[in-house]
Amino acid sequence: MTNTENPTQLIDRFGRVVDYLRISITDRCDFRCVYCMAEDMTFLPRAQILSLEEIYTLAKAFAELGVKKIRITGGEPLVRKGALELLHNIGSIESLKELVITTNGSQLETMASSLKAAGVKRINISVDTLDADKFKAITRTGDLHQVIRGIQAAKAVGFERIKINAVILKGRNHTEVCDLVQFAVDNGIDISFIEEMPLGVVSQHDRSGAYYSSDLIRKDLASQFNLLSSTEKTGGPSNYFVVAGTATRVGFISPHSENFCSTCNRVRLTVEGRLLLCLGNEHSVDLKAVLREHPGDGAVLKQAIIDAMHIKPEKHEFNIHEQPVILRYMNMTGG
Ligand code: SAM
Ligand code: SF4
Repeated sequence: MTNTENPTQLIDRFGRVVDYLRISITDRCDFRCVYCMAEDMTFLPRAQILSLEEIYTLAKAFAELGVKKIRITGGEPLVRKGALELLHNIGSIESLKELVITTNGSQLETMASSLKAAGVKRINISVDTLDADKFKAITRTGDLHQVIRGIQAAKAVGFERIKINAVILKGRNHTEVCDLVQFAVDNGIDISFIEEMPLGVVSQHDRSGAYYSSDLIRKDLASQFNLLSSTEKTGGPSNYFVVAGTATRVGFISPHSENFCSTCNRVRLTVEGRLLLCLGNEHSVDLKAVLREHPGDGAVLKQAIIDAMHIKPEKHEFNIHEQPVILRYMNMTGG
């Protein structure tokens, strides 16, 4: 469906305008975070994934249909060869207002200034702990010091906004929420706490047992910080607060404790070219097939995207206490 008054606007059955696309440009990653991947992941063969040109074509089609914001994610987007050129090309799409990226920070030390030059405005960096040993345990392969150097490089380059994402797991890093906020305050950046989502089967912890709600985090933070509720809405799932006396915003992404589906404005494109209409459901459309069956036919591609809005579900069905019904991992999904 498009809006009849504005044909260049994607709108679903529930009247939600979709103007935000997240694109996973690779399922590969140099880390193996315990909540995101199994230890022995098999990655997709090249023929099955979108080429950089195909990703650009899709990004452009979405922009022509009114998408204003694109987030590049993965897997780890910065490990894909040609990522910078792709970012530059997407960043040059005129009607696009915002090009942003989510990264684990491992490549930022060397890539931060090229990212800025490519047109990336804001950057999310995932850091779940400030303890190097715990960091290694959670990411299985990551080096905290390298990521911290990456954050410093991103700060030096001067993005419009830098935000840390932290997935909080009971028994692993839940005692660190105050330290993480203090780190954000000291560095003049923002932070969001994320409740773990049951995407894919993980082996190292019981998701139900590791559940640590945003409410508990807020209570923990109240012992050290005065969080002022903010009216700011980013059109996204985060509820924002400001740490009193600072510019740091603290967000809570709470798929379990606060359902945010009614204001959902986004869809996701997997690296296999599957358009996911909802993070917590399997409703999808194979845009890679459309692209490859009708090469160069922008009209057919756009119609497929418009038609896809009919199957965007009303809400996600996550239940942390049950075996996951969503068998794809977050690295496939484009978190
Ligand atoms: N590799 C990049 C990174 O880690 O930032 C981008 C991709 S990663 C899949 C995007 C975000 O999803 C990260 O902030 C990560 O912590 C989060 N994430 C991964 N698996 C998750 C899960 N099962 N539940 C909640 N968040 C998850
Ligand atoms: Fe890689 Fe990001 Fe998943 Fe961690 S959360 S394994 S860094 S894709």
